[in-house]
Amino acid sequence: MKHIKVKDLLNSAKPLDDVLVKGWVRTFRNNQFLAINDGSTINNIQCVVDFENTSPEMLKRLTTSAAVAIHGNLVESQGAGQKYEVQVTKLEILGDSDAETYPIQLRNKPSLEFLRENAHLRVRTNVFGAIMRVRSVLSFAIHQYFQEKGFVYVNTPIITGSDAEGAGEMFRVTALPATGAPLNEEGKVDYKQDFFGKETNLTVSGQLEAETYAMSLGQVYTFGPTFRAENSNTSRHLAEFWMIEPEVAFNDLDANMDLAEDFIQYVIKYAMDRCQDDLAFLNQRLADEEKQKPTAERSEMGLLEKLQFVLDNNFKRVSYTEAIDILKNSKPNKNKKFNYIIEEWGADLQSEHERFLVEKHFKCPVILFDYPAKIKAFYMRLNEDNQTVRAMDILFPGIGEIVGGSQREERLDVLQQKIADLGIDEKELWWYLDTRRFGTAVHSGFGLGFERLVLFVTGMTNIRDVIPFPRTPQNAEF
Ligand code: ATP
Ligand code: MG
Ligand code: MG
Ligand code: MG
Repeated sequence: MKHIKVKDLLNSAKPLDDVLVKGWVRTFRNNQFLAINDGSTINNIQCVVDFENTSPEMLKRLTTSAAVAIHGNLVESQGAGQKYEVQVTKLEILGDSDAETYPIQLRNKPSLEFLRENAHLRVRTNVFGAIMRVRSVLSFAIHQYFQEKGFVYVNTPIITGSDAEGAGEMFRVTALPATGAPLNEEGKVDYKQDFFGKETNLTVSGQLEAETYAMSLGQVYTFGPTFRAENSNTSRHLAEFWMIEPEVAFNDLDANMDLAEDFIQYVIKYAMDRCQDDLAFLNQRLADEEKQKPTAERSEMGLLEKLQFVLDNNFKRVSYTEAIDILKNSKPNKNKKFNYIIEEWGADLQSEHERFLVEKHFKCPVILFDYPAKIKAFYMRLNEDNQTVRAMDILFPGIGEIVGGSQREERLDVLQQKIADLGIDEKELWWYLDTRRFGTAVHSGFGLGFERLVLFVTGMTNIRDVIPFPRTPQNAEF
């Protein structure tokens, strides 16, 4: 008897004798029809129990989420909706699941909020099963894309001595020995006496380290956990998220935009080809949700249509200056409908502006470029106007910013000046500046927030629902 995955049973070319299925009960109807899922696909296999010859005690134990082993024959199904079913010859309960206390009862449609409080169990629902399989395929697609193009995968450090973004959203690392952290005379933590002999943080971006590698290996990427002490609760920010950061020597900003667009289209196509059942399910889920909304608020496109749209259309490239003009002249700005009114050039865009540009004005993904230097990080290449930098953000419908990238400042003197102007101690970045001292060259890269990509592809709206165990303020339960 062979243990066969549900997915392979459902895709079998012919009926099969003597199969063994192991999985968990999703539902049990009429003391006869058992729906079993083993995680290999969103679909369940229907197993028909011979209830006349099965003890009533056994039938009672077939509760939602009980682990079972089923022996039987795969036969063509008489019922509508499925090709095959398993005629059960032997039933084993591997692990009971108490119906009275099991928190996730599938029939009552638990809310996403409730499921978040049960992050360890929510993956047992169809929606989270689908999301997590799509997430897995997307992460494979990311490696596939870069590996095919000859990029080298570099693991940049998680514990770092630098703050790449200069935004001060870092988590401090200490070794915390049994005696507590060493204190100085003022009673503050003395990092010189601590494990690393200096202040260290969890990484907010692997970019600076990746740049040093790009300046020898040519094309590199990182894909790893990233930490930011975001002090607000939004549906787009996590304290721990995953970021994909390619860095390419000899690429300017235009080449960087081309790379980002091609990359995003590739991974979305990859998921659409390989996750058809899961995406069909998520598409239907979103359609059902839309139906609850008043007609005027409903999205014009379904999930699959939105994904296809991104594949079929170039991203609209617009300079920051053009975007500000559009926003200044837009109705929500003039009528003070935006919470934050754009009055002049130089202002940072809020996500309401980004979403307006993407969803209302251009109605397609947008790449904004050439931002004012003063609202962007120190390492970006200054343009000849001395006002703007070669930065780009990619904005997606329903999400806002999904990518932040730039051509890097490759000129040592300009970079040193910038660092000095910001009051950063050059000694902190001596190793970074070495890339400009020894064989500097034009180079560029970007950071894509993996969970924001998963949000877009799955049609979910809260970032907490696309990562297995979300970390947000006041929330690290699991
Ligand atoms: P935002 O404006 O949304 O706060 P950012 O400009 O601070 O993002 P970058 O430093 O440009 O972010 O990081 C690159 C990418 O990483 C972003 O475009 C986004 O996709 C993702 N990202 C940034 N912060 C977070 C976060 N806290 N949680 C999840 N993804 C994030
Ligand atoms: Mg931010
Ligand atoms: Mg931003
Ligand atoms: Mg950004």
